Amino acid sequence: MLKITPYMGPLVIIVSIAGLWYPILGYFMLLVFGAIFLIAPFRGRWFCGNLCPRGSFMDFWVGKISTKKKIPRSLKSYWIRVPLFLLMMVFMGYRLINTHGIINQIGMVLVIMCLTTSSIAVLLGVTIAPRTWCTFCPMGTLQSIVGVNKYPLQVDMEKCIKCHKCEKVCPMYLNIVDITHNPDCIKCGRCIDVCPKDALSFGKVNRSS
Ligand code: SF4
Ligand code: SF4
Ligand code: SF4
Repeated sequence: MLKITPYMGPLVIIVSIAGLWYPILGYFMLLVFGAIFLIAPFRGRWFCGNLCPRGSFMDFWVGKISTKKKIPRSLKSYWIRVPLFLLMMVFMGYRLINTHGIINQIGMVLVIMCLTTSSIAVLLGVTIAPRTWCTFCPMGTLQSIVGVNKYPLQVDMEKCIKCHKCEKVCPMYLNIVDITHNPDCIKCGRCIDVCPKDALSFGKVNRSS
């Protein structure tokens, strides 16, 4: 995790709320999309665990009041996530076409998208777990598909004592020890920090493991 990661969250509030009066702030979303497209082919979902303002907001703000239940497995299914991604793209495309290229209207479409998805994310974050939205977020799904094998988390089974401390701190509730290099790992590194045996690291996929 980068040192700035915990401080990215307020950007969500600024874009979602101030953007209603200053739609130009919506263009910040284009920076987010650009970063995702640049990073995902090399580092998978690294953006989600290190730079995404909403991810940061969920972890460091919503996390304080979340009930922190287990995220339902069904939400991790690509049968739900891929159709949701396609639906969102079609809907956004339709909304953007209807702006007829007017700068402020495009900005407002982006602001409303940020406000709507962030509101859903906060609701799920409080009632289930902070990263519930991130489990099926269309941008997260895109990164997991594009960067499926990139920068994977590896477990050194010779060092691992199966204490499962790593899984207790994983914000995505991943089964780290039994299923390595999960494409939904957001590369936050929290598991690495708590591992008492230094058994975890990021690296290349070891096909024989
Ligand atoms: S899944 Fe979506 S909201 Fe969550 S951190 Fe990634 S891009 Fe941000
Ligand atoms: S914290 Fe380290 S030693 Fe414990 S289960 Fe995870 S990888 Fe293994
Ligand atoms: S497996 Fe480790 S690096 Fe990946 S999301 Fe979970 S805690 Fe973060």
